[in-house]
Amino acid sequence: MYVGIEQKIHSLPDVSEKRLNFIKNKNKNKKWNDESMLKANEELISELIEKRRILHAYPETAFEEYETTARKKKWLETEGLSVLPYDLETGIVAEVKGDKPGPTIALRADIDALPIEEEAEVPFKSTVKGKMHACGHDFHTASIFGAARLLNENKDKINGTVRLIFQPAEEIAEGAEWLTEKGVLEGVSAIFGMHNKPDLPVGTIGIKSGTLMASVDRFKFTFKGIGGHAGIPHEAIDPIIIASQFVLSVQSIISRKIDLFHNAVISITHIRGGRTWNVIPGSVMVEGTVRTFQPEARDKIKEEMRKQARLLSESQGGEVDIDWDERMPTVYNDSRFEKSVKQTTEELGYSVVEAQPVAGGEDFAYYQQTIPGFFVWMGSNSPYQWHDPKFTLDEGAIKVASEFFANLALTVLQDSSI
Ligand SMILES: [Zn+2]
Ligand SMILES: [Zn+2]
Repeated sequence: MYVGIEQKIHSLPDVSEKRLNFIKNKNKNKKWNDESMLKANEELISELIEKRRILHAYPETAFEEYETTARKKKWLETEGLSVLPYDLETGIVAEVKGDKPGPTIALRADIDALPIEEEAEVPFKSTVKGKMHACGHDFHTASIFGAARLLNENKDKINGTVRLIFQPAEEIAEGAEWLTEKGVLEGVSAIFGMHNKPDLPVGTIGIKSGTLMASVDRFKFTFKGIGGHAGIPHEAIDPIIIASQFVLSVQSIISRKIDLFHNAVISITHIRGGRTWNVIPGSVMVEGTVRTFQPEARDKIKEEMRKQARLLSESQGGEVDIDWDERMPTVYNDSRFEKSVKQTTEELGYSVVEAQPVAGGEDFAYYQQTIPGFFVWMGSNSPYQWHDPKFTLDEGAIKVASEFFANLALTVLQDSSI
């Protein structure tokens, strides 16, 4: 089966060649042919596409990326890249040491897949039932490996060291924090990463300083009353009434308590209470998420929701248990790197657009709590959104991403201020 997939992998054309030629012509006055830029040749591109398809065919979910890790280890070692001896069950960290002295920066790719049954009709379709690379992390992994290859072949141009972090468990927002605890950021001055962006064309990179992705909070309120007969409610304390008032009242927090120029959303997504039609239940659980872009909004919403839950419960004689989980901070791009990121994109002949923030979370944010970093949108021209069972992407983006990260590393390391 393994060989069969590889055979099919070789037979597919690169569908985005036209698009890249168009961008090249559009940017012909820029440094497309500049010898100083690292470029991926045809041979490397087909190898990276093949590797991405192998990863795609054998997806593994969070903290179970054993085969993916073993595969990566083999690929890195075959290229003579030094794998660092961190104590990791899944995920792998390697380094390219430049010939010239300088600081260390990191490039990060996430490696995990999702518990989704693939519906995309591709020749390298998932061979694992109920699992799929539906977020494009196979593309991220292949591309950062491509950047590593380019850097490894050009050590004479590197002023310092580039650490390559292949991170597990992004989808459950635990991998980055776990790797940070393992010490993978020690000695690293800055970190760079990306996510594919379905609505951007291949060859276009979305760039923005400041907040790019929302902070993510998860809440669970359990309203407790006194259960009883549905026909005798005055002898009960009805938690369904309390929970219903709560669900409606929290929406006014956004309009009345949050600064007009801040961005926030409260979504209640799960309510559980009662089992039948003629019994008032003893408790009702209300669960959901808050997404914010400013810490002030994040703190205010948490405070107000807790206050309203308590006041509403007390007013009816009930109680409330509150479980509040601040899952992820914002992805916050350090403006000091914006110039290098834009310059690298343009000098390679690719297009820069202003990145649109999204309310999804990304655990890259944890690294940025420790060291500065910059996260970009990599155009991938997908007809389907992330996590869709039909998700696919244009593999032309592998060339763009590999070249972008290799050259960005060179540029950032040349800057003595990091
Ligand atoms: Zn995802
Ligand atoms: Zn993702």
